[in-house]
Amino acid sequence: RTRRLTGFQSTGHLHLGNLLGALRPLIAAQDAADSIALIADLHAMTVEHDPAQVRACALEQATIMLAAGVDPERTPIVLQSQVREHTELHYLLECVASHGEAARMIQFKEKSAAGGPVRLSLLTYPVLMAADILLYDIDQVPVGEDQNQHLELTRTLATRFNAKYGATFRVPEGIRPDAAARIMDLAEPAAKMSKSGGAGRIGLLDPPEVIRRTVARAATDTLGVVRRDRAHQPGVTNLIDILAEITGRPPADPTSYAALKREVTDAIEALLAPIRARHAELSQDPLLVRQVLAAGAERVRPTAAGTVQRARVAIGLLD
Ligand code: ATP
Ligand code: MG
Repeated sequence: RTRRLTGFQSTGHLHLGNLLGALRPLIAAQDAADSIALIADLHAMTVEHDPAQVRACALEQATIMLAAGVDPERTPIVLQSQVREHTELHYLLECVASHGEAARMIQFKEKSAAGGPVRLSLLTYPVLMAADILLYDIDQVPVGEDQNQHLELTRTLATRFNAKYGATFRVPEGIRPDAAARIMDLAEPAAKMSKSGGAGRIGLLDPPEVIRRTVARAATDTLGVVRRDRAHQPGVTNLIDILAEITGRPPADPTSYAALKREVTDAIEALLAPIRARHAELSQDPLLVRQVLAAGAERVRPTAAGTVQRARVAIGLLD
């Protein structure tokens, strides 16, 4: 069976883009592939962070995954920091990565240009991501465009390590989610919806009135035609895509933005209401999610330990 890994950084609240672009595909493939859902809390520390918030985010994300339908029996939910092998393999992979390779990463250049001190971990982040993937003999990594370059680096490091020190890692391939599954920010439809981002984000736990308001304020245009045209009507196109992604249907009324927004609001509410309710139920028992995480770590640890052991021996450490 195909092995997949889908990662989420614990940098903020999960949003509609995370659900449609990553979480739903993962849930839909639970019968067809062996997936790991990774909550990447170490990655959340590559930029200025609030310790309490990272912890709270990690628990919230795990709870939402369960609420949305991730079945931990089939899909281990793993908190990155609870499997120490991530950091150990990170170091071994740093020994086959060059400084130039890391410094060339577009995301590093963008994030480090923001001003203020740049954490060394921001530079080495893609090497930790490579460790996340290579640890588990992963075949396929569903990645958005923003992660292409990092996945290429993962492949480069794995191939180089194998060539220098002998066959150790499975070299993973990136698979693309559908184009329509890239959800844009409702207020600024030129940017993707993001945990860190703008006012047009639909949080998966947003109450109905917040959803209604966010959709009502979504950017549109003055053309007055409901049609997909990303270049000239990015806001309307995004709303149509969201509707299609959730309901599988095109908008009912091709002339009214108000009607489109009502349809989108209803579709989002119908999608999120059960998740919200299930999340509230699960939150009654805070120990449950911690147990799911502990079980997830335990499930995957043997594979991770095996990979690290192979890498240690190959690179020249005593076993
Ligand atoms: P951050 O701003 O912290 O990077 P993010 O919203 O980009 O947060 P990630 O944790 O980086 O979220 O990504 C988690 C998963 O969700 C990834 O598989 C990513 O490709 C997917 N994803 C993120 N944003 C979107 C979006 N707007 N549309 C579709 N998929 C998305
Ligand atoms: Mg991201």
